Amino acid sequence: MADILPFKRKSLAEKHRGNTLCRNGHHRWRIDKNKVFDVKQGRLVSVYQCTRCGLKKNTLD
Ligand SMILES: [Zn+2]
Repeated sequence: MADILPFKRKSLAEKHRGNTLCRNGHHRWRIDKNKVFDVKQGRLVSVYQCTRCGLKKNTLD
């Protein structure tokens, strides 16, 4: 049941921030930090942050 959410209308402000796109996996990635050392992976990675929702991801080089 966790995956099925009742449809809710989002506020206009939220739509304008583009979170609808983010929720569909279309993030606007922007580089946040160049070449930080990821301890877990033991190597240098680039950190990206979505300018709309603030989600972060690491990219291996
Ligand atoms: Zn996003």
